[in-house]
Amino acid sequence: MSTSLLYHGWGLKGYRYVRSHYGGGKLIFTVQPQPRSLTCPVCHGRDILQHGNIHRMWRDVSIGSKPIFIQMGIPRIECREC
Ligand SMILES: [Zn+2]
Repeated sequence: MSTSLLYHGWGLKGYRYVRSHYGGGKLIFTVQPQPRSLTCPVCHGRDILQHGNIHRMWRDVSIGSKPIFIQMGIPRIECREC
């Protein structure tokens, strides 16, 4: 697994592969947004402050018979522009 596979395989742009682990019959990929890709979701401004993360995990398309989950800390941001 690599950051390149995230982009070319799953279309996840602006995220970095961190690690993968197996457990309970499933494969979990941990990814995180690349800091330079963070922008305000409303105005797309880059003058933001980050206030921690909210951890989320969602299911993705299986690889063979293995269920795949992607885990990420969703950044909480405050925009200084809007
Ligand atoms: Zn904004």
